Amino acid sequence: MTPQDLLRQLPAVDKLLNTDAAADLIAQYGRDNVVEMLRDILAELRAELLNGHEHIPDIVTLAAKHLSSDFTPTLRPVINATGIILHTNLGRALLSKAAQQAVFDIAGQYNTLEFNLESGKRGSRYLHAEDLLKTITGAEAALVVNNTAAALVLLLAALAQGKSVIVSRGQLVEIGGGFRIPEIMAQSGATLVEVGTTNRTRISDFTRAIDANTALLMRIHSSNFRQIGFVEQPELAELADAAHQKNLWLVDDVGSGAFLDTSAYGLAKEPLVQDSIRAGADLVAFSGDKLLGGPQAGILVGKKTIIEKLKQHPLARALRADKLCYAALGATLDHYRKNDAIQHIPLWQMIARPIADIQRTAQRWQTILGGEVITSESAVGGGSLPGDTLPTYVLALAVAAPDAFMAQLRAAELPIIARIAEGRILFDPRTVLAEQEEILITILKRLLAKA
Ligand SMILES: *Cc1c(COP(=O)(O)O)cnc(C)c1O
Repeated sequence: MTPQDLLRQLPAVDKLLNTDAAADLIAQYGRDNVVEMLRDILAELRAELLNGHEHIPDIVTLAAKHLSSDFTPTLRPVINATGIILHTNLGRALLSKAAQQAVFDIAGQYNTLEFNLESGKRGSRYLHAEDLLKTITGAEAALVVNNTAAALVLLLAALAQGKSVIVSRGQLVEIGGGFRIPEIMAQSGATLVEVGTTNRTRISDFTRAIDANTALLMRIHSSNFRQIGFVEQPELAELADAAHQKNLWLVDDVGSGAFLDTSAYGLAKEPLVQDSIRAGADLVAFSGDKLLGGPQAGILVGKKTIIEKLKQHPLARALRADKLCYAALGATLDHYRKNDAIQHIPLWQMIARPIADIQRTAQRWQTILGGEVITSESAVGGGSLPGDTLPTYVLALAVAAPDAFMAQLRAAELPIIARIAEGRILFDPRTVLAEQEEILITILKRLLAKA
């Protein structure tokens, strides 16, 4: 057949649109998208036929495939088999079932975001998490903004613009994604005064640096790195005393925002928010989606006079949290109030998961998929507890081309993210949700049969 004969065999768009299969696609993706896709495919086929190709595929099937891939959202669920519990690139903390339900309920219905049911008048969104945060941390007041980066920008702009902030040289950190404390200070119009040395700073370094222009003393937790050896930092209570003697405030950026003690699980101790308040910090900043196990949020707790000042600042409006955040945060905080966070918040369930249970799961996978169950390490991650790990068991699969296999895992209908060690691919049950296990096994079985 000549290319011209083949071209004549190509169906017209209208004819394709009249098929049942096309009707399904139209219902799913809208007529315009289906028409455009069919036209694109036909144009491509025409070019191919003129170039000597002789095969005409099923055009509607091809359109279905392309449309499905075009309409797959860029933000989609994955299976985290890395064993890194707070994986910043994979969305950090997972919400508890109660928090998921709260988001669902508030997302689809009108609600009391800024409405006072008693008076029938306008209410304040700020109160939704405030009482819970006060109860849990012992602080006088609280404020929620978009994230901790935003919390720092807000507090520095509101409390230290045109003034100076004293920070230990060992704490001038980069938090992640190029977010650096000195640059944030500059952005907020505060002047940074560095004291001490990289490894050692004493309380006298702070007291000597205080002058008429000082607004704040600030401590920043070294969340994502660890200094060992000849190191020294003043205690928080000493810093608070030094600040208060000069009528200044002490701000503590604890980063992770733990309410529960990680050392109960064989990990190092992350600073607890309630300890910072008790030690005398006037304002404590921490994240909602790290060790708190809630939604992305920057939480500020502390003195009522300070929080009121922050609420009044114009930036508070720009950095405010939305209703879905409040819904999820409220339900998450409820777990701490009811003392069932370990049972219901995925992050704590994963940290507290018994090793024997992880081993049993890995062995179950191994009986179906082969490979070897070996000991390994899970990490808390999320820029917390650097270098600290939890013992775990993983399934190690040896495949001919590990990098290519990892790419296939990522291309699966539910993408699987794993890690490679010594040429084998490791799957850590600790971070794989129970409801994802079956699909994980199905995908792996299929890929291993192909490999
Ligand atoms: C993670 C972290 C931040 C930033 O928190 P986000 O909520 O991600 O903006 C700030 N400070 C410290 C010490 C942190 O660990």
